[in-house]
Amino acid sequence: MGEQTALQLPTSEDLISEIQFAYQDGKIWLDEQRMLLIHSAVMGSLRQELIASLGLERAKGFLMRFGYQSGMKDAEFAHKIRPEISTDEAFLVGPQMHCIKGMVRVEPVALEFDVDKGEFYGEFNWFDSYEAEVHINDFGIAEDPICWTLLGYASGYCSYYMGKKIMFRELQCAGCGHDHCHIVGKPAEEWEDQEELERCLLPDPIIEELFALRYEMSTLREHLKDNRISNDAPLFNSVGQSEAFKHVCHLIERASSSAVTVLLQGETGVGKEVVARGLHQTSERSDQAFIAVNCACIPPDLIEAELFGVRKGAYTGATQSREGKFERAHGGTIFLDEVVELNPRAQAALLRVLQEGEMERVGDNQVRKIDVRVVAATNEDLAEAVKAGKFRADLFYRLNVYPVQIPPLRDRAEDIPLLIEHFLEKYHTMYNKKTLGVSDKALQTLMKYKWPGNIRELENMIERGIILSDNNRTIDMKSFFPSLNEPTHPLNIAQSGVLQNQHTGDGDEDIVDQLLGSEFDLNSFEQTLLERAMDKASGNVTQATRLLGITRPQMAYRLKK
Ligand SMILES: [Zn+2]
Repeated sequence: MGEQTALQLPTSEDLISEIQFAYQDGKIWLDEQRMLLIHSAVMGSLRQELIASLGLERAKGFLMRFGYQSGMKDAEFAHKIRPEISTDEAFLVGPQMHCIKGMVRVEPVALEFDVDKGEFYGEFNWFDSYEAEVHINDFGIAEDPICWTLLGYASGYCSYYMGKKIMFRELQCAGCGHDHCHIVGKPAEEWEDQEELERCLLPDPIIEELFALRYEMSTLREHLKDNRISNDAPLFNSVGQSEAFKHVCHLIERASSSAVTVLLQGETGVGKEVVARGLHQTSERSDQAFIAVNCACIPPDLIEAELFGVRKGAYTGATQSREGKFERAHGGTIFLDEVVELNPRAQAALLRVLQEGEMERVGDNQVRKIDVRVVAATNEDLAEAVKAGKFRADLFYRLNVYPVQIPPLRDRAEDIPLLIEHFLEKYHTMYNKKTLGVSDKALQTLMKYKWPGNIRELENMIERGIILSDNNRTIDMKSFFPSLNEPTHPLNIAQSGVLQNQHTGDGDEDIVDQLLGSEFDLNSFEQTLLERAMDKASGNVTQATRLLGITRPQMAYRLKK
């Protein structure tokens, strides 16, 4: 088909007569639809901004869908004004409306369609496209056709009219420097690149992509962290990169491949249960139960029943038979924290499990075979407990086959930032909050602090910090140490690592309360006081005793200590 004019547009009088400028009401009507008269240049600005903020492809899709909606509206209008749907005259309302709206002058070249059969072929020339004009004004000559709203309009109009998806394509465009634009329309399935063409018309919510990206980012970050942890310690949900911690990880890793009984030793709060759980998870028993028991939390007269189960009627209150923790841990791992607290009967029963792999429920004669890996833990020196007659020596030797000493937090201070990050993430999620992390000064303080409560204390402190801080705020000193903070008493950390108040002039009682509220350590505080006094007295002991208000012999005794 050539580019000679093959068709004439019918007269537009019937369409124009439907336009009503009800300017006194502040409205323009096209039949029953409210219309707008918009500056072409303003449409240009909108277009420019869309391209700048969404990029060319997205802006194109957006504008095509915008045009598509407009085309559908006019097709609806066409059916009403020229109901003879199968005639060229009725169809040409669309091209005519394009002219009437001042968007482009349309010259039909070829038009063949059969609504019933769903056949369509249309070819049009566009002259003086407003879109080509604004595009060239803002961006200069384009490489590819750019009359997106017009093209969307043609597709929307014909699709509505035909009752099936008709897609138009601009084969040449004034925006690319051609004399005029030339478009061809066919049913979508007749285009080779149907999918690509139709994709422009699909809604493309950028917000979903942003969410998807954010999700991807956090997954990547998790991955990165997993790798970092697994490189340094192919264990646990536990966090650390210090040598002291890596050593523990190494020992645990070794132990996990066998069924050896493990004894975890370390101060309270160092994360013994986390380590035990890690040991279980990296072992062959990982798909079986992990049962944790804190022996100090169960009354001594109940502990045997709790651990080994009980037969109905074994004692008053045993109203029915039930299994104990060991039976529940069968095939898996049992973690006995504060194992030193076990009473002699429970110690004997535990020894039997370790030696014979057998146990009986309380009040029951039935011997049960049991296969459980025991991980015991204590923050007391078990050897001392043996000496004191509190703990069975043979049980101690059984448990002490593979001792692992977990370092206190103060000995792995370099892990503190990682642990802080870990707990921030945990409690941000838990409280659905997002702080900006820990202030530099607070971090410095946390690094120097001696952490008598170890990781548990750090965790509690981060949790409290998050609770006391607003969203998008940095967690400051005040949020970490609320009980200690008073504006006139700036916080300080003594050399010993004990939190104390710089100002000691007044309110002695307050200061004592504050000190005691902060995991106070008398020995190191005394040492700090002595050192400060000696410093102040330039090493003169007599002068230092005066500063401290004690006698010289008292001072000598303390210094020796
Ligand atoms: Zn064009």
